[in-house]
Amino acid sequence: MISADEALKLVLENIAPLGIERAPILDALGRVLAEDIRSPRDIPGFDNSAMDGYAVRAADIARAGASNPIRLRVLGTVAAGAMPGARVEPGTAMRTMTGAPVAEGADAIVPVEQTRGTGDMVEILAPAEPRSFIRPRGEDLRQGEVVMQAGKRLTAADLGTLASLNRSTIDVMRRPRVAIISTGDELVDVDQAPAGAQIVNSNAYSLAGAVREAGGEPTILKVARDRPEEIRARFLEAFGFDAALSTGGVSVGQFDHVKGALDELGMRQVFHGVAQRPGRPLKFGTMGGKPIFGLPGNPVSTLVCFYLYARPALRRMGGRRDLGLRRATVRCAVDIRTAKDLTEFVRVRLRREGDELYATPTGNQGSGILSSLSRADALLIGPASVTVLAAGDQATVLVLSEDAGDAEGATEPFFERPLRQSN
Ligand code: AMP
Ligand code: MG
Repeated sequence: MISADEALKLVLENIAPLGIERAPILDALGRVLAEDIRSPRDIPGFDNSAMDGYAVRAADIARAGASNPIRLRVLGTVAAGAMPGARVEPGTAMRTMTGAPVAEGADAIVPVEQTRGTGDMVEILAPAEPRSFIRPRGEDLRQGEVVMQAGKRLTAADLGTLASLNRSTIDVMRRPRVAIISTGDELVDVDQAPAGAQIVNSNAYSLAGAVREAGGEPTILKVARDRPEEIRARFLEAFGFDAALSTGGVSVGQFDHVKGALDELGMRQVFHGVAQRPGRPLKFGTMGGKPIFGLPGNPVSTLVCFYLYARPALRRMGGRRDLGLRRATVRCAVDIRTAKDLTEFVRVRLRREGDELYATPTGNQGSGILSSLSRADALLIGPASVTVLAAGDQATVLVLSEDAGDAEGATEPFFERPLRQSN
């Protein structure tokens, strides 16, 4: 059996980015940009006022002060979106709103707060340095400048920047379309109450969520009963997608037909079995270059194998370069026993104490106990060479939830000083 690291290496060796597609910017949030974006023009496109105020010649008001107001004749008013109707000559000023172009001849803006009067005359109560409160043409972006590089993950601010460049569509990396096949005679769907020995097909739903988290588009196929022909039919359907995930039927049980079905269909097997817990029966191969993950049926094994192997694969397919789960160094809050000769991934909760994170297992680590994964913030890595991590020992965790380990109040919404709850 291969090690967890070898398994991941083999998976990634068989994965390449899918390619590029055009997308409207409103659909591009969080996606990976696939072209360099250059600015087609200067932004802003003209010198404009940073304040509501008066465009003046700085030399005219060099000696202005509260006790020495300097009177200027007002030529008119420029609103944002309008063009100035006159040039500012010595002794004159142009009333200019925020964002409006600065009239020719003027070299400074005096904010309205430093002036007095409204009509045809204005009194300037303070001097201004040349260029003050003028936002010069091109101060944000220069024509021809590379604004964003291919590979960048698009944020809300990026969408705004692209819009300001008139880019309503852009090239982004394709998102993997992923087929999810659940196998098992015992499975009923989420809207059906299980009778007798039936159980609800939970794996399809946890995987669909995990595929989305990984930037993919999941499709849940009809459950395949434990019959070779039904499993084959479902995989044939799945080969129309960019990747396939199956759950169950990869162990050594009498009704575990996934291996046989994939062999018959001609899948190129890369490995079957990994020295880890949970998830030892994981199977991986490719079909026509597309990755096929035969995930174990136990709900924890399914999802842990997804996070360890399928997630990095899907992220690479979608053009991401940051493939792994975020890591943190923690201390064990209690003694943690781990399997000998297997890499064990222990579901833990994280708690912050001062500068350190402390990890506590979420309880029963059985691979069917999905609630213990729901409660987990992270997977703690128990190396194959280790059988016990003592309380206080350092360990590495793979972080599953974004707010993992945040002490209460760490995401409190105020800024300068947290408000005391008074009611
Ligand atoms: P298998 O690998 O098919 O032997 O399944 C191992 C365990 O996982 C069994 O207890 C199954 O009932 C359970 N299981 C398999 N598939 C699913 C599924 N889609 N959702 C929830 N549990 C499942
Ligand atoms: Mg089964």
